Amino acid sequence: MGLREYWNKRDFEKTKEPKGGMEMGDGNIYVIQKHQATHLHYDLRLEMDGVLKSWAVPKSPPMESGIKRLAVEVEDHPVEYASFEGTIPKGQYGAGTVEIWDKGQYIVKERSKDKLIFEIRGSRLRGDYCLVRFKGRKNWLFFKKK
Ligand code: MN
Repeated sequence: MGLREYWNKRDFEKTKEPKGGMEMGDGNIYVIQKHQATHLHYDLRLEMDGVLKSWAVPKSPPMESGIKRLAVEVEDHPVEYASFEGTIPKGQYGAGTVEIWDKGQYIVKERSKDKLIFEIRGSRLRGDYCLVRFKGRKNWLFFKKK
């Protein structure tokens, strides 16, 4: 996807979100940002292919196995976004507050187009997690493995 969609949606004269595109780490950042926009949601981001692959999770992230959450794939974000916290001004895309809810690293165990199994090493979330694509291209299920 790249960052074009991310850049197109935002006016960097008005939002303090990072424009990004400078860092091309091959790291394994894991972050979840609590985003109080029109609707409260949690943005799961995983550093992958030089960007943060991103999913919006409408309900609280699963802390234990047995809880399955919808995770809607959204546009790639720049790696720099992983440390962003602050307020996106009214009238701008995603207007509201962003705070880091959890952060750490992740380790890929299995990756295909429609499935990602990975170990999360965060403060709140720890252990093996799964993202599985379903019902078309944008919707995934996010859950902790047994
Ligand atoms: Mn969001």
